[in-house]
Amino acid sequence: MFDQWQQPLDVRALIRQGITLKGEVQVAELPRLQGVVLRDAPIRFGLSFGKNDEGLAVVTGQVQGTVEMTCQRCLEAVAIELDAEVGLGVVESEEEAKRLPPELDPLILGEEPVRLADLIEDEILLALPVVPMHAHACVPAHREHEGMEKADNPFAALRGLVKPSAH
Ligand SMILES: [Zn+2]
Repeated sequence: MFDQWQQPLDVRALIRQGITLKGEVQVAELPRLQGVVLRDAPIRFGLSFGKNDEGLAVVTGQVQGTVEMTCQRCLEAVAIELDAEVGLGVVESEEEAKRLPPELDPLILGEEPVRLADLIEDEILLALPVVPMHAHACVPAHREHEGMEKADNPFAALRGLVKPSAH
């Protein structure tokens, strides 16, 4: 199988020519997402290589899709909408990276080849929530209530003491 995601990109040439790469990649083709994302899903991307208004070499675009992660409250799957804006400043060294404006993350061209999979993986990993959770109260209310009474209700321990007649 020709693995286009793992091929090194000639970033300088892409910038010189002002190329936009658009397409769809499957989560299963991105090794660093295995174990983070529960199942395979398509991720759409558009990455434009070129110079911005200040003449800086940049990669801009979006990464979008819906992935499933494990909800950290109920441990069931939760769908996470990904819609990440990409803004990378392409530089040759750490020193140069420090001079980038704050809205640009550095993409340092060094010894390591830059692969399309790496670029897309980085953006997805940055955009995913650290603690994924359902937006609704996914743990049944009575279970949350029990936990709250034990941990947070300072009067729970006094209950027997203030009403001795209740026995
Ligand atoms: Zn949940």
